[in-house]
Amino acid sequence: MEIKDKAVELVNNAELELDSIFKEIDRLEEINSLKVLNAFHNAEISEAHFNSTTGYGFGDIGRDAIEKVFAEVLGAEDALVRNQMISGSHALTVCLFGLLRPGDTMLSISGLPYDTLHEVIGITDNPSSLKAWGVDYKQIDLVDNDFDIDAIKACLENKKIKLIEIQRSKGYSTRKSLTIDKLERVIKAIREVDKEVIIMVDNCYCEFVETKTPLEVGADIMVGSLIKNLGGGIAPNGAYIAGRKDLVELASERLTVPGEGKEVGPTLGVNKSFLQGIYMAPQVVAASLKTAILTAKVLEDLGFDVEPRYNEKRADIVENVIFRDPEKLISYVGSIQEASAIDAHAKAVPTEMPGYEDLVIMASGSFTQGSSIEISCDGPIREPFIAYQQGGLTYKYGKIAIMNAVSKLID
Ligand SMILES: *Cc1c(COP(=O)(O)O)cnc(C)c1O
Repeated sequence: MEIKDKAVELVNNAELELDSIFKEIDRLEEINSLKVLNAFHNAEISEAHFNSTTGYGFGDIGRDAIEKVFAEVLGAEDALVRNQMISGSHALTVCLFGLLRPGDTMLSISGLPYDTLHEVIGITDNPSSLKAWGVDYKQIDLVDNDFDIDAIKACLENKKIKLIEIQRSKGYSTRKSLTIDKLERVIKAIREVDKEVIIMVDNCYCEFVETKTPLEVGADIMVGSLIKNLGGGIAPNGAYIAGRKDLVELASERLTVPGEGKEVGPTLGVNKSFLQGIYMAPQVVAASLKTAILTAKVLEDLGFDVEPRYNEKRADIVENVIFRDPEKLISYVGSIQEASAIDAHAKAVPTEMPGYEDLVIMASGSFTQGSSIEISCDGPIREPFIAYQQGGLTYKYGKIAIMNAVSKLID
């Protein structure tokens, strides 16, 4: 790294103006920490829960206690928290296949879903997709970054929909991420016309960014990745599905075996990491939010368009910098890689990635492969050349990464 004095000055000056916003983040961290601690107490977490099972994984008391903790923290009746789920994309797949049957229709009301779900749903052909299985897909796009409530109501009145999928975080799109307030409004509207449709939320990147969860504003089931927020940078892999007990049961029988469901699943030594991960998560998410806010302020001061702006209400930990130029995007992502803990000596270059349609450049010099709760930055090489930056296990490491990136930009 070559951090320039001028970059240090720019970043420190920007930081001075963020004091009151950072205080709000500290308050959020306190509220979420209390939630986690209460959940640990109610589940009577003890050292015995760090033990592990092998083989079938029958009677894994640590796994059961972890699921109790996640359920309470997320406001769920039940939760499935498993290392057998590789990451968020796998958990979303398990959930969709668990809840949908041939002849059913699923409806996305937040526009085109995340890239890795295209082959799952059958938006891109795949012989193993839901579509190949006989599940129909419909989509309603957002209008001005919010749900198209009239179109959603009309669709529900017109046709029997089995499941509505809502993706809160923007993925690799140019829209804004969806706050709990917007979610609450659309769920109220949905329930005015349809009491039965299952409302499923892709909550990746959104945990602990607000104090309420999607389940607390009426969603039925939510899904997220443990190499993002709730893994706290400590979980080595995994994902969660949380919500209504009957729906979690269906998902568990898809993940494992009909008739065995949640009763099997060896934890192979991850229990302590999962517990430490969710314990640290409120602080790690707060550090990520501060890193994102600082990035927004500094890059805006330098004349770049960013989304969200530093003082905007946030739904997730992702910060977009819109470069409108492939070289600047590649250079910025490279400078984040340079400031990583691991593989900082490696050069980030655009490559093909399984599940993604465009070339993607990724900086993820992380302890856990692909972890994006650690400082990371990525983007598809397509117009308008946006860097999607997220994470930061501590704010100081995030700040150093920004100072390094700014040193390159002001060159
Ligand atoms: C990251 C992400 C996923 C996929 O999660 P992985 O853990 O990377 O598989 C799905 N949806 C959204 C909105 C995401 O941000």
